[in-house]
Amino acid sequence: MLPDTHIHTAFSGDCSTPAAIQIERCISMGMQEVCITDHHDYDTGMKEEIFLLDFPAYLSRLHSLREEYKGRIRISIGVELGLQSHIRDYLDTLTHSLDVDYIIGSCHFIDRMDPYYPSFFEGRSERSAYERYFEVALRRIQDLDCFDSFGHLDYVVRYGPTTNQNYSYQNYQDYIDPILRALIEKGKALECNTAGFKYGLGHPNPTEDILRRYRQLGGEYVTLGSDAHTPEHIGYVFEKARSILICCGFRHLTVYHQRNPCFIPL
Ligand SMILES: [Zn+2]
Ligand SMILES: [Zn+2]
Repeated sequence: MLPDTHIHTAFSGDCSTPAAIQIERCISMGMQEVCITDHHDYDTGMKEEIFLLDFPAYLSRLHSLREEYKGRIRISIGVELGLQSHIRDYLDTLTHSLDVDYIIGSCHFIDRMDPYYPSFFEGRSERSAYERYFEVALRRIQDLDCFDSFGHLDYVVRYGPTTNQNYSYQNYQDYIDPILRALIEKGKALECNTAGFKYGLGHPNPTEDILRRYRQLGGEYVTLGSDAHTPEHIGYVFEKARSILICCGFRHLTVYHQRNPCFIPL
């Protein structure tokens, strides 16, 4: 079973599943390796900052689980870090001192709003909301260097008024190609996040066409994650994801150990 490298636990503000339960599920599915990646979103503009990770408690718990499960599964320690250009110094300082294996860079907050909430789409067309998301994501990728893989590139599409009915790579190519080029230029991975299937989009985030385009443009590093917040979503449709990645031209999956890329044949 391919390793799941995007999993949340009760250390995330939006998850109540204990880490040990998630890890047990990975073992029962036959995974030899897993990476836990809880949320850390700093200065979001939310009334209550619920996505701040308690790093000392998190790292200490995961280090002890890593020991406890030694020989049964390799546990990597990661974080899903909220990228925002205005906190670049904070992110640089944090990540330079952080002893983790893997950092997913993600964009949950755009202009102090999360597309998860309908207010993000109020007063503008769905297209202009999606365009804004991609513009901001590009700027952050250009401005920041504190991550290994870019998570769920078209996250915004999960929550638009018509989700992906009017969305395709071709329709947004002018916005997406610069993002893919910037990731490749910086040696960053692109994540294939299978939660798109869970959300009923019928595609991963990002779509097959975008994964294929990243590969065509010379992208080599692709990571795989379910974004599971509950045990039943761990490794979600990973066999389908394996076929998709092979069809898109990838021969290896990338996992990170001590922030260094390692390859697993698909
Ligand atoms: Zn996320
Ligand atoms: Zn996530």
